[in-house]
Amino acid sequence: MSILWVLGAGQLGAMLKQAGTPLGIDVRPVDIESTDTLSLNTDDVVTAEREEWPETIATKQLATHNNFVNLKTFPQLADRLTQKQWLDRLQLATAPWFPVESNSNSEYAYKTLGERVLMKSRRGGYDGKGQYWLKESEGTNIPEDWKGNAIAEQAINFDEEVSLVGVRGRNGEKHFYPLTLNLHINGILYASISPLNRLKPLQSKAEAMLSKLMDTLDYVGVMAMECFRIGDDLLINELAPRVHNSGHWTQAGASVCQFENHVRAITGLPLAEAEIKGQSMMVNLIGVDLNHHWLKTKSLELYWYKKEVRPGRKVGHLNFCSNNITVLQSALTSLDLPQPYPEAIAWLAENLP
Ligand code: ATP
Ligand code: MG
Ligand code: MG
Repeated sequence: MSILWVLGAGQLGAMLKQAGTPLGIDVRPVDIESTDTLSLNTDDVVTAEREEWPETIATKQLATHNNFVNLKTFPQLADRLTQKQWLDRLQLATAPWFPVESNSNSEYAYKTLGERVLMKSRRGGYDGKGQYWLKESEGTNIPEDWKGNAIAEQAINFDEEVSLVGVRGRNGEKHFYPLTLNLHINGILYASISPLNRLKPLQSKAEAMLSKLMDTLDYVGVMAMECFRIGDDLLINELAPRVHNSGHWTQAGASVCQFENHVRAITGLPLAEAEIKGQSMMVNLIGVDLNHHWLKTKSLELYWYKKEVRPGRKVGHLNFCSNNITVLQSALTSLDLPQPYPEAIAWLAENLP
C-alpha cells in the first residue's frame, strides 16, 4: 500500500493522519525541519499542510515527487500577488488591490484605494501576521522593506466573514460543506459556526466561485475560500489550497470531515456528499493552557496540538455539535476563557439559531 506523505507536521498534518487511519491509509507528516532522507516509493502520494517550506533533503524529495498533488498550483496560490491575479483573471470578486513595487508610494495607495489601505506580505503571512495598515489620517508611508514584497488592498467594510470549504476529486467531482460564519479578532480566527439558514441564499453563489477556481486549476483535494459578505455579495479575501481552520467543525459535524475528504481526494478514493449531523461551532484555543475540565461539557470535542503555549498562538480547538440548541448554549456558558473570548462566546451565542 502506498504512503501518503504530508509536507509539514503541524496540527493539520496530525489531523490528516488521524483521518486517514480508519481508511487504512498510512499518512506520514514530515517535519519541514527534519534532516532525514526519506525512502519514497514511486507510487506514494504527496500533499502539503502548508504553502511554504524551507529546502531540506526531505522537502526537496517530496516537492519533486511525481505524485505531489497540485504541485503547480501551490506556488500560484502561496504568493498573494499571483493569487490575486488568478482572481482577477477569472473575474472573481476580490478586494481592490495593487502590487507594492519598489517605486510605490502611499499617496497612490490613498488615491486609488481610499484612506485606509491594508498591505499584506506576498508570502508567509498567517493569522493576520504579515499585515501593515496604511492610514491617510496618520500619514503612514510604505516602509522600504515592504516594497516589492507585498500587495496593497482596500479596507473592506464587510458585514461579516464567511468561508466555503470544498473538495474536488481527480475526476472533477466536487462537494461542498455549508458556508461557515467566522469571527476574527485582530486578524486571527477565534470562532466559527455552521450551518446557518441565513447563509443558505449565498451557498450556490459561493460554490460557483470556488468551483471555477478548482476546475480552472484542475485542483484535487480540499480548498478553502475565505470571503467578506457585503449585503448579498461575496468578495474573496483569500484562498487556501489545503484543509483550513474554518473547516475544523466538520470533524464533529459532518459524516466525512474535511481531513478525510482531502485524504480521499488525493489518494483517488471515492467521494460522497457529507451528511451534516447538527449545529456545529468551533472555538480556537489561542494562547491558553490545556484544561481537561473542558471535557465535562456535553457536545464538546477537544483537539490539543501539543504545542508550547504562547500568546497569540493557536494551540488547539474545541468542536461542538448537537441538534439541541440548549446543549450548545449551556456549553458556551460553561466555557471560562480569558479576554478576548467573552466576545467570541457572545458572538456564537448570538448566531445560534
Ligand atoms: P489566515 O490565518 O486566515 O491565513 P492571513 O494572515 O493570511 O490569515 P487574511 O486572511 O488576509 O490574513 O486577513 C486576516 C483577517 O484580517 C481577515 O480575516 C479579516 O478579518 C482582516 N482583513 C483582511 N483583509 C482585509 C481587508 N481588505 N479589509 C478589512 N479587513 C481585512
Ligand atoms: Mg492566509
Ligand atoms: Mg485568512
